[in-house]
Amino acid sequence: MSAYEYETHDYDVVVVGAGGAGLRATLGMAEQGLRTACVTKVFPTRSHTVAAQGGIAASLSNMGPDHWQWHMYDTVKGSDWLGDTDTMEYLAREAPKAVYELEHYGVPFSRTEEGKIYQRPFGGHTTEFGEGPPVQRTCAAADRTGHAILHTLYGQSLKQKAEFFIEYFAIDLIMSEDGQCQGILAWKLDDGTMHVFNAKMTVLATGGYGRAFFSCTSAHTCTGDGNGMVARAGLPLQDMEFVQFHPTGIYGAGCLITEGARGEGGYLTNSEGERFMERYAPTYKDLASRDVVSRCMTIEIREGRGVGDEKDHIHLNLSHIPAETLHERLPGISESARIFSGVDVTKEPIPVLPTVHYNMGGIPTNYWGEVLNPTADNPDAVAPGLMAVGEAGCASVHGANRLGSNSLIDLVVFGRAAAIRAGQIVDPAAPNPTLNKASLEKAFERFDALRYAKGAIPTAELRLEMQKTMQADAAVFRTDKSLAEGVEKMTGTVAPKMADLAVTDRSLVWNSDLMETLELTNLMPNALATIVAAEARKESRGAHAHEDYPDRDDANWRKHSLAHVEGNKVTLDYRPVHLDPLTTAEEGGIDLKKIAPKKRVY
Ligand SMILES: Cc1cc2nc3c(=O)[nH]c(=O)nc-3n(C[C@H](O)[C@H](O)[C@H](O)COP(=O)(O)OP(=O)(O)OC[C@H]3O[C@@H](n4cnc5c(N)ncnc54)[C@H](O)[C@@H]3O)c2cc1C
Repeated sequence: MSAYEYETHDYDVVVVGAGGAGLRATLGMAEQGLRTACVTKVFPTRSHTVAAQGGIAASLSNMGPDHWQWHMYDTVKGSDWLGDTDTMEYLAREAPKAVYELEHYGVPFSRTEEGKIYQRPFGGHTTEFGEGPPVQRTCAAADRTGHAILHTLYGQSLKQKAEFFIEYFAIDLIMSEDGQCQGILAWKLDDGTMHVFNAKMTVLATGGYGRAFFSCTSAHTCTGDGNGMVARAGLPLQDMEFVQFHPTGIYGAGCLITEGARGEGGYLTNSEGERFMERYAPTYKDLASRDVVSRCMTIEIREGRGVGDEKDHIHLNLSHIPAETLHERLPGISESARIFSGVDVTKEPIPVLPTVHYNMGGIPTNYWGEVLNPTADNPDAVAPGLMAVGEAGCASVHGANRLGSNSLIDLVVFGRAAAIRAGQIVDPAAPNPTLNKASLEKAFERFDALRYAKGAIPTAELRLEMQKTMQADAAVFRTDKSLAEGVEKMTGTVAPKMADLAVTDRSLVWNSDLMETLELTNLMPNALATIVAAEARKESRGAHAHEDYPDRDDANWRKHSLAHVEGNKVTLDYRPVHLDPLTTAEEGGIDLKKIAPKKRVY
């Protein structure tokens, strides 16, 4: 048996992650009387959700007509017809309810003159099934919406007596022989003790894996840990080839300038001072969806119309917007622009560049958040005892491309749905599963091997090599050549070096070297799945822009990819996209003709 002693904690539910998704799930579970533990490697309000600026989408109709069906249509089109129809319907329908709940929990939204929740326009959000003008659908608390939501949900979770285990690092899932999740093994960072959380339901809400790339807007903690744990448990990851580049990361620093800046009237210009988006997207211009704007910026730079000495970035102009409006609606980004690029937004443009921002792919789930483990005869088979919500999950509501402000609403709608579902299937009176000691032992062995790793390559060095490879070969534009090179490099050179890692600190207390190594063991399967699935997909769809196959190919590729990662090897499989809605047109649902596939133009 392992040399490590551990303490066991029994709960009905253990939620891993305290971002928007984890907190909304935790709160919902606790509200239903389930004994709920929330385990998080950073303090809850330091989760990446705190950085969300722009807002949260819901068809409240506070600032002009809107309808959940228009929101659904925009989401379907935004997903480039890869999203699951049932989950997209669920999101659009439940969104207003979820936002009003947030309001009643105490989120301090910005207000209209009449005291209603303020809403701003965001890319890809339209009226009349794409026939009408842009809609103001994105509910905002100035440009600090994620901050406001996170603080409110944390307070409410404490009120419901959910128990928090803060600065505990989840290492691996504990799985029964027949594939049921029984909880997790976690390492308490500040005193080095080990903890087993034994639960009837485990919810992964560990966020995205932006840090697999060199330039990204996400926090250093966004290392795809839940996805890594799932891959090690032998479960697949879905649609990993779809990585969103946000058009406006600050040049050099990567920090985000929210799309809300364009929502408030900001626009992009090239070296000729031309407002070039008018040429590419005559109707929605700078508010076309993110993948489209990022590609147009990249084309401008490639064709020699980039700004700056190296002609390698683009300008975002806000100085025509009244200073009072900037101060009131975009105070945070005015500050970021000053700190990270030395720009006064009331006078000069901000230098920006498309930057990795969001992972559409992740752990496959249904719209209740239950994790899927597809079998030959059931593509929707559920992995018992396991749920995933938020950016770690792939419900799949964003398909090949997520619309701005659709992630925050995804967190709360599906965090809430997971809690509702757990209320139905978790019996507080039932005994907890008997721990599979072999699975626990395996987790300890992996931990111990990394702790004493005495190879030649420091973690930071290998991480950088992975990040640079992914940035170069799985970028905004992809080609057969870049992807083949990327696969070859990642599977043949970079990932194999994991066997030669050097960890220098052997202690268990605040050992950041070991923690970053564990994180790298999670980033690596994410990166491998991403590049291998991207190389296989011979079409262009949403964020996956393939120069050798410039068109979308629905006949062959309207399907979800599933990547099994074992060591350095990735095996691909596919599962069908859900085409059926939850309700028919007769029952008040959307007319399916409205969302039939067509060319995606803005
Ligand atoms: C700069 C920025 C701005 C954005 N703005 C918007 C916006 O305006 N609107 C919008 O809709 N979307 C926005 N997004 C996207 C959105 O904010 C994220 O997709 C979302 O916040 C992710 O939330 P989450 O709860 O899934 O994960 P996170 O908020 O990333 O939280 C992950 C949690 O998991 C925990 N965790 C991870 N690994 C472990 C482990 N091994 N052990 C224990 N705990 C672990 C962490 O401690 C953390 O609590 C933005 C993203 C960024 C980066």
